[in-house]
Amino acid sequence: MKRPAAPGEPHCRTCRAPILSLGGACAFCRTPVDPAGPDATPLAVVAFLERSLPDVIRRGRGLLGLGRSKDVTVITRTGYFRARVRAGGLALDPTLPPAEWVDRLVAALSLDATTDPDLRARLLRMGWALRA
Ligand SMILES: [Zn+2]
Repeated sequence: MKRPAAPGEPHCRTCRAPILSLGGACAFCRTPVDPAGPDATPLAVVAFLERSLPDVIRRGRGLLGLGRSKDVTVITRTGYFRARVRAGGLALDPTLPPAEWVDRLVAALSLDATTDPDLRARLLRMGWALRA
């Protein structure tokens, strides 16, 4: 099932993620994206993670009135990944460029999915490219 992209945001045509280009490919699913196209906004990235992983993430304080978080944390067996919207930018933990952070996150989730069939099925359904 495809998830709708936030209106007005550039999104991947395969997995509907906000565009974060990693070497010319979507950081989530590895579909080639326009290398000259804009990257997604920080809020779109955080909102997408919140929509995609509702039972894996911990939410920080939501953005009043919009029902969107500005702070999400994904807990994996090999570590945690936190994304916060800060002054229009993304504050990421671990500190990496956004596309590399997503790549690392998907790799960690892929590893968890090797022993969690439900998580594996969900990642595949979302169209994300499993790394393990
Ligand atoms: Zn994609």
